Amino acid sequence: MVRTVVVGAGPVGLFTAIAMARRGREVVLVDRDPGPSASTAIWRRRGVMQFDHAHTFRGPVVDALGAELPDALAALLRIGVRVVAGPDGAAIAMHCRRAVFERVLRAAAARQPGLTVVTGHVDAVRRESGRAAGVDIDGRHLDAGLVVDASGRTSRVMRALRGDSDGGPCGAAYVTRQYRLRDGAEPGPVNSPVGLSLSLSGYFAVAFRHDGGTFSITITHDGTDPRVRTLRHAAVFESVVGAIPLLADWIDPCRAYPITPVLPGGQLYNSYCGQLDDAGRPRLPGLVAVGDAVCTTTPLAGRGVTLGLLQSRALIEFLTSCAGDDDLAVATFDGWCRSWIRPWFLDHIACDADRLRRWAGGDVDLTRPLPSDLIVAAAQKDATLRGAVAGYDSMSALPSSLDGLQVRARAVYASGWRPTLAEGPDREELAQLCVEASSGDTDRRARELCSG
Ligand SMILES: Cc1cc2nc3c(=O)[nH]c(=O)nc-3n(C[C@H](O)[C@H](O)[C@H](O)COP(=O)(O)OP(=O)(O)OC[C@H]3O[C@@H](n4cnc5c(N)ncnc54)[C@H](O)[C@@H]3O)c2cc1C
Repeated sequence: MVRTVVVGAGPVGLFTAIAMARRGREVVLVDRDPGPSASTAIWRRRGVMQFDHAHTFRGPVVDALGAELPDALAALLRIGVRVVAGPDGAAIAMHCRRAVFERVLRAAAARQPGLTVVTGHVDAVRRESGRAAGVDIDGRHLDAGLVVDASGRTSRVMRALRGDSDGGPCGAAYVTRQYRLRDGAEPGPVNSPVGLSLSLSGYFAVAFRHDGGTFSITITHDGTDPRVRTLRHAAVFESVVGAIPLLADWIDPCRAYPITPVLPGGQLYNSYCGQLDDAGRPRLPGLVAVGDAVCTTTPLAGRGVTLGLLQSRALIEFLTSCAGDDDLAVATFDGWCRSWIRPWFLDHIACDADRLRRWAGGDVDLTRPLPSDLIVAAAQKDATLRGAVAGYDSMSALPSSLDGLQVRARAVYASGWRPTLAEGPDREELAQLCVEASSGDTDRRARELCSG
């Protein structure tokens, strides 16, 4: 049997490798990270900056697990992961830390017949007769008929082979911290299936619910103000969160306590890199990319793992239906990604550019098409839009499903209505608060802001 090597055991590589092995392939899954230790709860994950950052998992992730890895889904539910369903019973969100998600999939991979998990760094993809013929792992060669690049957003080895991606910085900087509810304490206020999402003047703040009474608080800003970068210090972070009344409720010391340091994020990108070169030929026959290696989007919408698992499911389906002709499957997969994944990348670029303009003080611009987030927000005012935006919201319909709603959404904004901003410091007040908290003058400023 021709062996498949999957490079990268993140959420997408794990899912892909297990599902492929269950379809009868002989699979080797390689990651430089050795995986969680059985003896300690701490997993210092190398090379994945966002590992302990706030993750929320959308409905399609639950659907993907249910279809391909129902045992892993059952294991997640057994250890306190919660699936939130809509009125029709369809999954909307899954409350789970990313580390917990990966632990359970890692355990499923270790048990999976036909799948071998190897720890090592892939230094190169070996080429023979113009095809990928395997990988070099820490100097040792491993033959393979198909190499699957699930190495995420940053792998240098793969980027050199696959060419430049489209896209650029998404204008969102993250800082996050995980907490745990005290025994018997209820979560703080919520306004969405994932927890609490707040739009403030010039930045966002969220509380994502996770498994077993854990949750994350994240502040997202545009990353341009050096004063706000001090949010990475615990005293500054706690002070700012304490000045946003609805979030302050979440971290009230009687309710919850921190379980991680404050975690700053690196530069984030919207990126897209297909399988084919400009002439429509495979960049390297025998190599196919999946997950973040194909597409990354601003984490604000929590779409990354969903887009990765949607890709994985499509790739597996094409590999199965093109039995034996992996090159045809890869070409078909590329066409599918252009139709079903790239539109989300383009949607993020449009939304991010307009969000940055609005965060800097700009108003809704009615001289240009409205970005998707504003069309969705208009449904708060015009209830007749709600059903029509639901498909986009749940990712069961592409961004183009909103095109026909432009006129009605524009009418909402032309009437003068604007989405309500949450109570809390505006962008300049946030920066001031950071400065004061850095210099220790936290309590006075937080009290002033809270008392309005
Ligand atoms: C701050 C932040 C918040 C996010 N929040 C959300 C969210 O709420 N919801 C959501 O769905 N998505 C979110 N995302 C996106 C999500 O994290 C990614 O979409 C997801 O990690 C993609 O998984 P992947 O398996 O493709 O890649 P990765 O998770 O990056 O995994 C790649 C793996 O490849 C391994 N690797 C790389 N190179 C090599 C090599 N040469 N040799 C061996 N191993 C290698 C790495 O060690 C890693 O394990 C967020 C992203 C960020 C940055």
